[in-house]
Amino acid sequence: MRSLQPVRGTRDILPDEMRRHRAVINCARNLAERYGYREMATPIFESTEVFQRTLGDTSDIVTKEMYTFPVREEGDSVTLRPEGTAGVARAYISNSLQQQVPIKYFYSGPMFRHERPQKGRQRQFHQVGVELLGVAQPLGDVEIIALGDHILRALGLGDAIKLELNTLGDPESRSAYRTALVEYFSAYEDKLSEDSRGRLHRNPLRILDSKDENDRRIVENAPAFGDYLNDQSRDFFAEVCAGLDALGLEYALNSRLVRGLDYYTHTCFEFTTTRLGAQGTVLAGGRYDGLMETMGGPATPGIGWAAGIERLSMLLEGQAIEGPRPIAVVPAARAQEAAALHLTHDLRHKGFAVELGYSGNLGKRMKRANKVNARAALILGESELAQGSVTLRDLDTGEQELVALDALGERLAAFR
Ligand code: ATP
Ligand code: MG
Repeated sequence: MRSLQPVRGTRDILPDEMRRHRAVINCARNLAERYGYREMATPIFESTEVFQRTLGDTSDIVTKEMYTFPVREEGDSVTLRPEGTAGVARAYISNSLQQQVPIKYFYSGPMFRHERPQKGRQRQFHQVGVELLGVAQPLGDVEIIALGDHILRALGLGDAIKLELNTLGDPESRSAYRTALVEYFSAYEDKLSEDSRGRLHRNPLRILDSKDENDRRIVENAPAFGDYLNDQSRDFFAEVCAGLDALGLEYALNSRLVRGLDYYTHTCFEFTTTRLGAQGTVLAGGRYDGLMETMGGPATPGIGWAAGIERLSMLLEGQAIEGPRPIAVVPAARAQEAAALHLTHDLRHKGFAVELGYSGNLGKRMKRANKVNARAALILGESELAQGSVTLRDLDTGEQELVALDALGERLAAFR
């Protein structure tokens, strides 16, 4: 039956991978908290409008990647969230949070985009992200980039990643640049890919981001944003760069870096790796000062980033991320099972991770203890139990000793 396979572009996350996912999330959440970003959550689906308005009618996400379906009762349409920022912005407006700025949020969860599935690209994937609302100063940009860098380093990926940085300027600069781009690309109109031709007048900046080989060649000689920045945008970017320099954070300027979404202004950045093939961006973000107004909310500057958990988890693949090693409780035979159940229960309540050997002879139960990677086994034999003791075996060294039941908690502390 075909339907027993997960839907194309979705995957099961089995425990070994889940452990890496959790390592990524925990690391990001802990460091985000250290920087003052508190966790929150928004719904997994929102009114389609929330994404349509914010991401822009010409973005890839809105034109072809959204999972949208009608909701009967409301005669309305909802969309599974393709990213986190629009929902956070909607929540900021719905909850009238403008009195509380600056607001610093962390989130984590699934996102949905109807893309062509490939390594590092799924239709349901997961992100962690942060948003800083109400801070217009370059200090905010610097802090949020430093946090991204800190998390990637804490995950042990310092050598695997590099930071690319660009500015998209303020709306005035952007509009001047846009005009220059339209003029430049118009000369190549018949040579551009179909997608790019479609973007020529609607959103020429997006052509800079084209993955088409031929487009890329044309893009090489396109005008650079740097030449169209007004003084204010140039100063802003210089301050961001100076802040990063002061912290010793290395970056490469990439004037072709544009973000896939329409709402970005000023700083945009990506942390990339060469270890994942074509899907090399692991954490990306930027400033979105115009977003709240686009949504009909109070003008509020904002900046944030999101990181792909699957891609980060793939980078951790070689790394052993161990859970707690349990203590195995092994009744020698059926007659000791009741005592084993009792002891297991007691130890779990004392805070130990415990695996109980459910069935079989002693050999089979010991095998299971090894299979769950137990640190030690407690073997409950008839004669030991009769003296109120059990056999404690260190499964790493093979050493064995008899331990009185009432001294067990203390003795086991070394095996926690
Ligand atoms: P890309 O250029 O790879 O399509 P994007 O610009 O669409 O990325 P963002 O919207 O910035 O990505 O999302 C931030 C991060 O989320 C990406 O850097 C990536 O790590 C992850 N991500 C985005 N789309 C997917 C996907 N379909 N599958 C897995 N991870 C994804
Ligand atoms: Mg994309």
